Amino acid sequence: MAKFEGYKDIYVFVEQRNGEIANVGYELISEARKLVASIPQMGFQVVGVLLGHNVTDKANDVIAHGADKVIVADHELLEGYSTQFYADTLTQIIETYKPDSFLTGATVLGRDLAPRVAARLNAGLTADATKIEIDQEKVADGEALLLVTRPTFGGNLFGTIVCPDTRPQMATIRPNVFSMDPVDTTRTGEVVAFTPDFKDTDAKVVVKEVIAKVVEGIDITKCDILVGAGRGAEDCLDMVEAVAEELGGAMCASRAVVDDGFASKDIQVGQTGKTVRPSLYIACGISGACQHVAGMEKSDMIIAINRDPQAEIFSIANMGFIGDVKEILPLLKEEIIAAKKA
Ligand SMILES: Cc1cc2nc3c(=O)[nH]c(=O)nc-3n(C[C@H](O)[C@H](O)[C@H](O)COP(=O)(O)OP(=O)(O)OC[C@H]3O[C@@H](n4cnc5c(N)ncnc54)[C@H](O)[C@@H]3O)c2cc1C
Repeated sequence: MAKFEGYKDIYVFVEQRNGEIANVGYELISEARKLVASIPQMGFQVVGVLLGHNVTDKANDVIAHGADKVIVADHELLEGYSTQFYADTLTQIIETYKPDSFLTGATVLGRDLAPRVAARLNAGLTADATKIEIDQEKVADGEALLLVTRPTFGGNLFGTIVCPDTRPQMATIRPNVFSMDPVDTTRTGEVVAFTPDFKDTDAKVVVKEVIAKVVEGIDITKCDILVGAGRGAEDCLDMVEAVAEELGGAMCASRAVVDDGFASKDIQVGQTGKTVRPSLYIACGISGACQHVAGMEKSDMIIAINRDPQAEIFSIANMGFIGDVKEILPLLKEEIIAAKKA
């Protein structure tokens, strides 16, 4: 008998707010598709889990993004996020369907929800993962053991964590770590309605008012071109910003620039900032510390400008320029604009 009889499939929590699905759910479904494709002998499916009120019609979008099946808990108590009702529902879904693994975005909501559910189920959870693989050696024993990698010791090391003794294997993954597959509206799948059984419908915490944070400026996680300013560009931030705008992108910054008070935390890239994956990232006067690199290394093309030829940033850059940002950035901008026109 297999060690975890009855547990199967990779489940993904599909986070929505006001009916709008967060991209991270689709990114995780795309990654889960790759994982199940790597273990065809297990016959696993990718299952989306959607909680909310009046959200059932969104299930088809989840299928179009790669899910084979979507479990929908559509209930008025799930209208807005409630730790209590969401954790109750998710725990019941997991107890009923027995997923082999369960992935959640490491968003504010996901970071609140996933550990509570894991604790209730006595399941192992790896937080803030950046890479997920399946241990192919265990597949012959009928096990789809996840190898979940995450930064540790302040981002100086990466640790790979396994949860060999319990199911489901749970993980939270930061937005933008995985890419999203193209939508296929011809895909078909199963939609399963789940009715949560709330033992106690009295909310322990009542949310009286939700004040949405007004994000000023551009959301750097959605930009196709980013020009990153590091401490080495602090005396020419106007230029960096102007070049970013001329290229149709936006400026972002290293933590040094944020800590020095020259940029807002909203545009910080890295382990304690945002994860970005633009098609072009120009790193200006950025040393390439691992905590910064963790937030931008998945960019399609990285160009680095640094006056120190030994700077770490050159080891991950596709193209590097050794010299002063103030001299090189304007020339580089002209080259990029000319290349775009050609
Ligand atoms: C727990 C933890 C979390 C962290 N999280 C983050 C994070 O999310 N994001 C982040 O960015 N950092 C983070 N850090 C900080 C990180 O370790 C680095 O200190 C930081 O990234 C350094 O920023 P920097 O490269 O801009 O500055 P510096 O390390 O000071 O590097 C400046 C670079 O600019 C070059 N330079 C100087 N002048 C010029 C010039 N005129 N022209 C060209 N090049 C020039 C220098 O050669 C140097 O390489 C974190 C650290 C810890 C411990």
